[in-house]
Amino acid sequence: MTNDSWLAKHPYLQSVADFEALIDSAASQVSIPYASISIWEPYLGDFHVGVPLLMSSRIAIDFGPVERGMTSLVQRLAAKALPERLAEESRALDKELCGNPDWSRCAVAWLIGKDSFTPTHPGLLRYLGWTILARYLFQLVVAFGRWREDERWLRNYCPTCGAPPAMAQLVGMDSGSLRLLSCGCCKTRWRYPRTACPFCQNRDDHLLAVLAVDGESGLRIDYCKACRGYLKTYKGEGGEGVLLSDWTSLHLDVIACDRGLRRLATSLYTLPNLAS
Ligand SMILES: [Zn+2]
Ligand SMILES: [Zn+2]
Repeated sequence: MTNDSWLAKHPYLQSVADFEALIDSAASQVSIPYASISIWEPYLGDFHVGVPLLMSSRIAIDFGPVERGMTSLVQRLAAKALPERLAEESRALDKELCGNPDWSRCAVAWLIGKDSFTPTHPGLLRYLGWTILARYLFQLVVAFGRWREDERWLRNYCPTCGAPPAMAQLVGMDSGSLRLLSCGCCKTRWRYPRTACPFCQNRDDHLLAVLAVDGESGLRIDYCKACRGYLKTYKGEGGEGVLLSDWTSLHLDVIACDRGLRRLATSLYTLPNLAS
């Protein structure tokens, strides 16, 4: 499964794919090291009471490289020939950062929920910021996954950054399958009970339902009749890079919203007009 084969089947996603590719290409020119943590023990108590890693005062993570990376990405985009709206928003962000020496520090704190901040274009800045931050955190997310005991978390928000899930995945055989929630921001995946709504935490399985979607490689819509929240879910393994990318299944969000379900997942994407 590749993005190209998926796009051949879902041509209405091409404009989102183009946007993804454009930002990825600009971000690949920004030099970003990997964050690392070698001593986890000070964080253990916070982990047990549900404090996500990035929110913990027991672990020091240097966000300086992310601040510089975000500044560089915004400046690169502002200087590029881009589609009109993206060009306009990038230039507005660039203007904002030029006028405030503390801008990148505030922007990173805002991204991880440690500060209030009012950027001119929060949607674009959140997307750009998480593009850089997810790259910076890549190795740390892997190491954190090896270190933590997932059965001691089982919460409805990301153990790394604290965001509610963007999607879910069911792995393993039916009787013993596990549900993983997937973060659309930092890309962490973590365990969560199969028989609980990740939004209102209702555990009545009569109120948990599935909307099957034919021909979508195992993707389906799991929803809760109590809060009407839904979570796009991939039942299967392999091809996660495509199937858990969130943007590759925006058409399922449209189906769910058409059925009156609520988009309570944390997504970096607003729903595009798929008809255009
Ligand atoms: Zn996360
Ligand atoms: Zn619910």
